Amino acid sequence: MIPLNIDLPKTHRLVQLSPDLYWGRLPLPFRLNHINLYIIDTNNGWVIIDAGIYGDQTRDYWRTLLGGFLSEKPIDKIIITHHHVDHIGFASELAQMTGANCYTSAAEKEHGQFLFNLSARDFSELLASHYTRYGLPEAEIVLGRNDSDRYRRFVPELPDFKEFSETNEINGCNSQWQCRLDSGHSSGQISFMNAAESLFLPTDFLLPRISPNISADMRNTDKDVLGDYLIYLKEMSNLSPAIKIYPGHDWPFKNGNDRAQALINHHNQRLELLLSEAKLRPISTSDGIDILFNRRFESHELFFASGESRAHLTHLMHQEKLEKTTEMQNGNEVDIFIA
Ligand SMILES: [Zn+2]
Repeated sequence: MIPLNIDLPKTHRLVQLSPDLYWGRLPLPFRLNHINLYIIDTNNGWVIIDAGIYGDQTRDYWRTLLGGFLSEKPIDKIIITHHHVDHIGFASELAQMTGANCYTSAAEKEHGQFLFNLSARDFSELLASHYTRYGLPEAEIVLGRNDSDRYRRFVPELPDFKEFSETNEINGCNSQWQCRLDSGHSSGQISFMNAAESLFLPTDFLLPRISPNISADMRNTDKDVLGDYLIYLKEMSNLSPAIKIYPGHDWPFKNGNDRAQALINHHNQRLELLLSEAKLRPISTSDGIDILFNRRFESHELFFASGESRAHLTHLMHQEKLEKTTEMQNGNEVDIFIA
């Protein structure tokens, strides 16, 4: 997508995007090297949208902002858009630093608590049991078994969340931001639309460069998360091209309708690849990784690649294009999809 002509925020600085809206960038220790956070100026104080991952860099970032630009007003609210570690990880400490309450949707709160409350052992056993049912080779199942603190490493504490829903909005000093909740990339992500000024904060659901990860739900791999996301994208494909989009990663852009359509096409191509192979032979989630990515992955990426493969197969099952059955492979029960 073509970026809007706006300079990126410098370290520990905010860029003003509209009379009430500010944009900052927090570093991340991943290949995806930053997240965007947004701050809205209201008559009750600042509303912070997303806290960043847990760690020293994030702590330094907030100390600098709170002691500098943000010091002229209190922090009214901290809104966490979804439970992923790069958005929620520092929420609890930020609440303690500011004295503000944290808000998120009921679905995101519940999903975050589920992951947070799993012991390292329960987490690795759950992951290994999915990898087994996915038909991954033993060496990759071992990677799952050793992948034990993926969530809590970056989320040492969860705040006492208050609930934010679609009936809520943020009243800026001169602006109104309507909340919407969507599922797909996560279970009930919060985003904000400012219709009067044609501004949209879609967080991770509509990104200009990367396709947001759509992974099978670890609690129910038969849940059609891709179906939910495609419903969202269909709606977004009707967005006005003029709306300025300020996403959770990368850069601000316009023509969000085209971006949504490109993401629909991307997923449809992937569904087609899986379906045409399944017409030749029954396939497992592990086969799906080969078909979709043409390579194998190490621990961190394997989690996303296998989840993505399974989410696409599950969607084809919900569309009644594939049927799920089980087969014994190397003494393990494996989910197999047949056309
Ligand atoms: Zn996310």
